[in-house]
Amino acid sequence: MKWPNGKQMAVVLSFDVDAETAFTFNEKNKSRMSLLSIGTYGRTVGLNRILTLLSENDLKANFFVPGAVANIDPTVIERIVEKNHPIGHHGYFHERLDDLTFEEEEEIIVKGREAIKKYAGYYPEGYRAPLWEINRHTPSLLKKYDFRFDSSLMGNDVPYTIDGGHNEKILEIPVTWLLDDWEQFAFSAEPPIGFSIEEPDKVYRLWKAEFDGLYQDGGCFVLTMHPQLIGRSSRINMLNELIHYMKSKPGVWFTTLNEIEEKWSSGELKVEHSPFIQLD
Ligand SMILES: [Zn+2]
Repeated sequence: MKWPNGKQMAVVLSFDVDAETAFTFNEKNKSRMSLLSIGTYGRTVGLNRILTLLSENDLKANFFVPGAVANIDPTVIERIVEKNHPIGHHGYFHERLDDLTFEEEEEIIVKGREAIKKYAGYYPEGYRAPLWEINRHTPSLLKKYDFRFDSSLMGNDVPYTIDGGHNEKILEIPVTWLLDDWEQFAFSAEPPIGFSIEEPDKVYRLWKAEFDGLYQDGGCFVLTMHPQLIGRSSRINMLNELIHYMKSKPGVWFTTLNEIEEKWSSGELKVEHSPFIQLD
């Protein structure tokens, strides 16, 4: 991929502020106060640590906020917007989409979009599906509601386009489980959530190795993190160390998903198209 201004690769830090809605997939969880407090920590202590870290490193990042989180705590969006980081759509109650019809999904898109507009003052340009799963019809819904990019799929190391319905395309800026803090750090005993609590040093090595590979290949390093996990003290220190390492390499474009989309729509960034395959 040829990145703008002769850059070698792109780096995007993204944060999914799921907070309490990370656990609302199960009715019983709504009365588990300790479990929910993990989410509270994320939108308070964790988010504040992240915002400070970004300011100290003079970086912009993407924040995806479920509509219900915006309504529970309007200061979430206010604190992010105050620092000029773009806000994206991440469902309303962080609903998984794969069981939903077009109409049910549309209702969630509208509710989440309105909540962001209420507190951020603008409609979101970016979309990230809860749990990173979308339906075949989702891109056309995104086009209908003026989204400019999606960041939920895993089909490449660099941005590409997918079908947005009516012969339109929408930009996909891909993610990967490899670059997600959930698999490394998420844990709850009851209900059982997550896998194991990894050491920050191990996660540093995992992410640095992928950064080094993508640096060599000219890829797009999109790191996805959750304030309730990465916002813990030891992990923020690890992220700070990783940022310093990435900054020490020449030719790294620290950017946002929104800026990547702007370069694509202005014609400065050329990407390939990848249609959905039909298996039935
Ligand atoms: Zn999420």
